[in-house]
Amino acid sequence: MAVDLRSDTVTKPTPEMYAAMARADLGDDVLGHDPTTRQLEELAAQATGMEDALFVPSGTMGNQVALATHTHPGDSVLFDDDAHMVYYEVGAPAILSGVQARTVPSTNGVIDSSKIEARFLSKSEHTPGTTLLCMENTHNRAGGTVTPVEVHRQCRQAADRLGIRIHLDGARVFNAAVALGVRVTEITRHVDTVSFCLSKGLCSPVGSVLCGPADFIREARFWRKRLGGGLRQSGILAACGIVSLTRMVDRLAEDHLRTHKLATAVSALKGVSVVPPQTNILMIDTVAPASSWVDALEKEGVWVVPTGSHRVRAVLHKDIGDLELEEALLAFHKVGHASLG
Ligand SMILES: *Cc1c(COP(=O)(O)O)cnc(C)c1O
Repeated sequence: MAVDLRSDTVTKPTPEMYAAMARADLGDDVLGHDPTTRQLEELAAQATGMEDALFVPSGTMGNQVALATHTHPGDSVLFDDDAHMVYYEVGAPAILSGVQARTVPSTNGVIDSSKIEARFLSKSEHTPGTTLLCMENTHNRAGGTVTPVEVHRQCRQAADRLGIRIHLDGARVFNAAVALGVRVTEITRHVDTVSFCLSKGLCSPVGSVLCGPADFIREARFWRKRLGGGLRQSGILAACGIVSLTRMVDRLAEDHLRTHKLATAVSALKGVSVVPPQTNILMIDTVAPASSWVDALEKEGVWVVPTGSHRVRAVLHKDIGDLELEEALLAFHKVGHASLG
């Protein structure tokens, strides 16, 4: 079996999830409510301190439904330079919401709150009015980096001064909370809406949740349907999400610890340098082209992905225990000591 470090999305459902699926109380969530989906939504709203929540098939849909609900065509929206919503969502903000993306300078995925005002545009005959700031915590392309609570507070203040709202792409916001040692609500109290993934480190097979004010979620429901995200017996999936939220959050600390161990070992090799990890994502800069490391590691049974011409990414997750970590360490050593080192 390969040691799959491509992403935390590769995690398989736990035995507890299969059991929860088998006994889930189901309805039709488009014709009315599916009770298990409703239960997950209430749990998610509670966990994030929001009034209500909406189960969606993916993190991308959660973000794009949020964007469409928050904005009008022609608005400008602020994102950090390398935001997932701009980089990895295939142009959806332009196509689905008709908004113009403007980026705000950031360091390691952490937005410089002092630059928000300078990037804001007021609505005029000449300029697209800015209505929304999107943040990302943890930050994907920066390598699972954490935006501190204090920066969230400063961004909130800047947004309030400008009269704009904040959506948090919190695909891995539970990783952020665990890394910071705070409840997720300490982060989400500084944003208007948040979407998070059940299907990453929280191990569900499918699903994300968009959380926010009750009237916002009512509107978001229309957008979800419009985008084809109305699911019928979604309780089958929501049942796993409930296990994610109640059983899989605290164990994220284990993934962070193993990521740190991998980083320490890999940093000792020749031909690479590691970006010190903050959560469960390790970015490794390679002297040789990234593809040669990806191929050589694959021959040793370890899967990673290139995220740049000379950068590979390894992500730790529930299905990588100490044994798998040991295998990964051996493979990195072998490749490092061979021609690539
Ligand atoms: C994975 C991810 C998403 C999208 O989630 P999908 O379920 O893959 O669509 C959005 N934002 C961030 C930061 C992510 O890491």
